[in-house]
Amino acid sequence: APRTVLISGCSSGIGLELAVQLAHDPKKRYQVVATMRDLGKKETLEAAAGEALGQTLTVAQLDVCSDESVAQCLSCIQGEVDVLVNNAGMGLVGPLEGLSLAAMQNVFDTNFFGAVRLVKAVLPGMKRRRQGHIVVISSVMGLQGVIFNDVYAASKFALEGFFESLAIQLLQFNIFISLVEPGPVVTEFEGKLLAQVSTAEFPGTDPETLHYFRDLYLPASRELFRSVGQNPQDVVQAIVNVISSTRPPLRRQTNIRYSPLTTLKTVDSSGSLYVRTTHRLLFRCPRLLNLGLQCLSCGCLPMRVRPR
Ligand code: NAD
Repeated sequence: APRTVLISGCSSGIGLELAVQLAHDPKKRYQVVATMRDLGKKETLEAAAGEALGQTLTVAQLDVCSDESVAQCLSCIQGEVDVLVNNAGMGLVGPLEGLSLAAMQNVFDTNFFGAVRLVKAVLPGMKRRRQGHIVVISSVMGLQGVIFNDVYAASKFALEGFFESLAIQLLQFNIFISLVEPGPVVTEFEGKLLAQVSTAEFPGTDPETLHYFRDLYLPASRELFRSVGQNPQDVVQAIVNVISSTRPPLRRQTNIRYSPLTTLKTVDSSGSLYVRTTHRLLFRCPRLLNLGLQCLSCGCLPMRVRPR
């Protein structure tokens, strides 16, 4: 029988692409429940799903920030979820002093507690059936901090700690956890962030910090998306591989071109190498903006940590 896959955040980006790809599986291994907060945005998904709509793909309402919405959605499918994909998420960038606590809590409610809510809802059924797979779209920012992404990175670190802990218990129930960690992905995600930033004033932030944010960080970030950004299709291929694996990995990075940066943290457990190198890339190396990660070959990084 096909496995029921429930995906959050399918109105755009990675969630939409994943839903469509799984629904078109040539071996028809999946029955996809593609969910979104606002059903008014379902047209793009339905058009992309084509003849799979109503067959291997159904669309359902789900706001990961609402207990009632989660309960309602799961009652419609009798709570029988074989694969849960926690994809819904949002970003937040900017100098900390200028961001409200409410905005930060909203990020945690969506990115972290949104996943926790869904897991609490599907876990009893998975445990009873002694099978299941929980996939979480984390980020390389779940592994390492990035300047002016303090709160977003914290929400992804929270997911990493939560699901690594849970993975140990769930192994006993034959339930697998996989954290997928993309680098930059070219979706609406970046545009939504830039739109927020263009109107935000970041009250209470000193001019020097604002200058670093607007004149160093934002151009560097744009350049990073341009130089090493992946298409959602490439990320989706990595997720599909994880879902169809018989022994799913706990962690899977999707972007080899980003790995020079994640390697810095693995090779030096004190953390200084990562912090000092990324500081230097942003504040000292003039070639970063033009060359992105190729900067690694210009001497910014000590030879011994350059990736082979
Ligand atoms: P996206 O903005 O296209 O997709 C995010 C989706 O989540 C949207 O459809 C949005 O409506 C939905 N969402 C937000 N709040 C929700 C809520 N309360 N309930 C239900 N749905 C909600 O961007 P994307 O790039 O496809 O992002 C998908 C995931 O990938 C996110 O978790 C994001 O953090 C992660 N990610 C993105 C990037 C990137 O650079 N784009 C990199 C690493 C990880």
